[in-house]
Amino acid sequence: MNWDDFADWSQKAARWGAEYHKTLRDRPVRAQVGPGDTLAQLPDAPPEKGQPLEDIWTDFQDIVMPGITHWQHPRFFAYFNSNAAPASVLAEFLASIVAPQCMLWQTSPSATEMETRMMDWLIQALGLPSTYSGVIQDSASSATLAAVLTMRERALSWAGNQKGLPGQKTLRIYCSDQVHSSIDRAIWVAGIGQENLIKIPTKGPMRAMDTEALQAAITADRAAGYLPAGIIAATGATGMGACDDMAAVADVAERESLYTHLDAAWAGAAMICPEFRPLWAGAERFDSIVFNPHKWLGAQFDCAAHFLRDPDLLRQTLAIRPEYLKTHGAAEVTDYSEWSIPLGRRFRALKLWFLIRTYGLEGLRARIRNHVVWSQALCDRLRAEPDFEIVTDPILSLWTFRVKGADDAATQALVDAINDDGRIYITQTLVDGTKVIRFQAGQFDCIQADFDTAFDTITQIARAS
Ligand SMILES: *Cc1c(COP(=O)(O)O)cnc(C)c1O
Repeated sequence: MNWDDFADWSQKAARWGAEYHKTLRDRPVRAQVGPGDTLAQLPDAPPEKGQPLEDIWTDFQDIVMPGITHWQHPRFFAYFNSNAAPASVLAEFLASIVAPQCMLWQTSPSATEMETRMMDWLIQALGLPSTYSGVIQDSASSATLAAVLTMRERALSWAGNQKGLPGQKTLRIYCSDQVHSSIDRAIWVAGIGQENLIKIPTKGPMRAMDTEALQAAITADRAAGYLPAGIIAATGATGMGACDDMAAVADVAERESLYTHLDAAWAGAAMICPEFRPLWAGAERFDSIVFNPHKWLGAQFDCAAHFLRDPDLLRQTLAIRPEYLKTHGAAEVTDYSEWSIPLGRRFRALKLWFLIRTYGLEGLRARIRNHVVWSQALCDRLRAEPDFEIVTDPILSLWTFRVKGADDAATQALVDAINDDGRIYITQTLVDGTKVIRFQAGQFDCIQADFDTAFDTITQIARAS
């Protein structure tokens, strides 16, 4: 394949891509293949000789596409959406053509400075203080791991990286019982240990961490000789959208001098709308905040925006400067690889630039507001049906429900039947140990009619069984 062939095939791919997106509603949302179906169609051994792109393209259509769950389908109401607005896809295409490696300022100055500016734009868009700095991480999981490592090193006066953890006091980190599994993983990987992640019970309609219990746990741990290092809070946790009271958590953290990290991976995007900001009031007192523009905001996966009150703490934790990574004669530049765990970095800022300029903050806000209104209206419609009950009320566009009187097995059977039907895609979760159906909305191109289809699908299938 030469670059002229590349130009031809790129045009073909672009036309196919536009058609794919325009006809997505005709496809079942969740892939309807079984385990092993795709593998059985892939040759056991790699080819010795190059093959024509026509053949590869045909196989892409015949083998790959049937096994794709359509994340960009307007009726994808499962998990959280991982959007790919066309402007951001275009930017990703350009970034992959130029393919710069953005580890240091000098390895692509415009990528670094674009990243600085895009993070500043997002800080303004979210209403955070201009004193924050930002960096793009590959995922919220990585941002959380970086924050946990910062907690660890700060608490150990930077001895962990040098000496290792044996011989140190046992660290303790606190979060609610609603947090995402990426927090547990960060604790494992940081060598702190699951037993030292203290999960505080939640209370109230927002399922917020009980901050009296939090304070009590910290006090008891100090008395027992542990070393409290940090608190991780959530705005819009994955299961049912739990939101901690940031001001109350920050009060405890400031009293105890603990590092704070806020996981707003999904809900952070909604904070571009001022009316939703009460959900994270007090966030501006947190040391570290992560949200994923690749979820609700519309940036092509992957893109996690990580904001820091004092990036020096993160740099002190992660920066390492062998001679071959030094930038001589440019002391003031930012090398973002010192802010993240991998050294290599893709040019992710470009898609934010394309996205924000193409739609404007108003265009992005309008989508999020519509999703919230349409999702809550669907919730009210189901609530009015005699055979359904709403289990947890909407937090933004996320809520849970079930058929009245259904046991866990019946609820799961309904989820499976709905997803086999294919018109919509939803998932299940546990609320206080009971299986419920989880609904959230946030696909970039969804329209109100998609929510009518959701209502029809859910009620028809539930009543047919
Ligand atoms: C999606 C999500 C994560 C994980 O995000 P990744 O970018 O996939 O690591 C973590 N926390 C919450 C609340 C999420 O919604």
